Amino acid sequence: MELTRLPLLKSALKSRYPQLAVFIVMLVGYIFAILAGLIGTPVGSHNFSIVFVWIAWWAILILVAVPFFGRGWCAVCPIPLPGEWLQRGAVLAPPDKKPKWLNLRVPKMFRNIWLQNLSFLLLALFSSVLLTTPTITGIVLAAMLFAAIGLSMVFERRSFCRYLCPVGGFIGLYSQTAPAELRIKDKQVCAKCEGKPCYNGSDTGYGCPWDVFPGGLTKNTYCGLCMECIRTCPYDNIAINLRPFSADLAKPSAKMDEAFKAFIMLGSAMIYAGVLLGPWGALKDAAYNVGTGAWFIYAATFLGIIFVVLPGFFALALSLSPGPSPNGRGGGVRVFSSLSTSLIPLGLMFWVAFSVSFVLTNASYILAALSDPLGLGWNLFGTANAAWRPILTSMLAPAQTLALVGGLAWSAHTAQRSGHEANVSSIPVIVYCFIATLIMLWLLL
Ligand code: SF4
Ligand code: SF4
Ligand code: SF4
Repeated sequence: MELTRLPLLKSALKSRYPQLAVFIVMLVGYIFAILAGLIGTPVGSHNFSIVFVWIAWWAILILVAVPFFGRGWCAVCPIPLPGEWLQRGAVLAPPDKKPKWLNLRVPKMFRNIWLQNLSFLLLALFSSVLLTTPTITGIVLAAMLFAAIGLSMVFERRSFCRYLCPVGGFIGLYSQTAPAELRIKDKQVCAKCEGKPCYNGSDTGYGCPWDVFPGGLTKNTYCGLCMECIRTCPYDNIAINLRPFSADLAKPSAKMDEAFKAFIMLGSAMIYAGVLLGPWGALKDAAYNVGTGAWFIYAATFLGIIFVVLPGFFALALSLSPGPSPNGRGGGVRVFSSLSTSLIPLGLMFWVAFSVSFVLTNASYILAALSDPLGLGWNLFGTANAAWRPILTSMLAPAQTLALVGGLAWSAHTAQRSGHEANVSSIPVIVYCFIATLIMLWLLL
């Protein structure tokens, strides 16, 4: 179903003003979060930066935005804006043909998501302090803003979003499961289109900031839903469609950087569940005491699980796969990457199950932080003294079980499709997903 047939939605997307209004609100909120982190109370549970970024924003992102709108968050994210405005020398005006800054192309060796994998892991290793210390959160938010500005001055388009943002990497991975997409309507129209303004820009707008050719889009992964191509396409050949969940997963990826993103996200959800929600005090201490010997052991174990244990057992499962394949008995890089697609729905539902617990336990902090965002004794809405209490606790275990079992069934279905495509049996991968789900159930319940 084509949503852009709705005249109101279409004119809202074609005009730059509604998006600009949202961007400005988001940018103000983002800058306030940085300031709150740097000058507000050091008590995390009473600081806007911790409560609104790691509880409210995270809940909306992982429970609503990514599962239902894919890269919908990127459509309103304020992080690339200042850099993009400087790069273009304009906020709204049509593009000037002369580049304002260096406008270099990102070197080929970095045109993948390995840097995003590393930037996510860097944050993940320090996540215990990041999630609880306002100053660190303020510094990280500011660093992302300045990194995006710096890269915009040197490289063309949104190089920070495309190749470095730690959040963008996993949003892109899981956006493939969303029931919404931006695609062209008619390939023939694109084939005859001269100048390809959707990629190269025109008087009506900028060439794709995410460096993708909209005419060739087959997946959501790298389309940041900036809506620029809707404005530049002279033939009205771009649509936003509703579609079945996980439609993109019918075309498994053959890229190792994307395969490892799936392992990183799956493993991180399990480790976070153990550290943040589990009963193991020594594990928590090791994760929190950054720089100590125990932390180094924790970090090495974290990386070992993600880069050795999870992919190692996955490769072992594939090697046991009985079906023929282009590389013999189920092995081969292409088969490995292709079958790792089945971990995408599983990982997403692991994050949903983990986040439900984390968010319901801590959501009551939002009311207090709303009234006193810096922890300075304000009471703007009369809720500054709202007591902490977990909400909807009786629904927690059933909701998590449903998410995990649903994720397993979804992954099994994806594994069957990917296995069929790669000409190998999907059973070992389904067993792998089953064992991972049992471990996650044990960690959460
Ligand atoms: S990739 Fe990162 S910085 Fe870019 S729009 Fe998405 S979340 Fe924001
Ligand atoms: S501008 Fe429109 S018609 Fe031309 S290539 Fe891009 S999407 Fe296709
Ligand atoms: S220009 Fe079009 S294809 Fe490119 S990121 Fe924006 S919405 Fe996606």
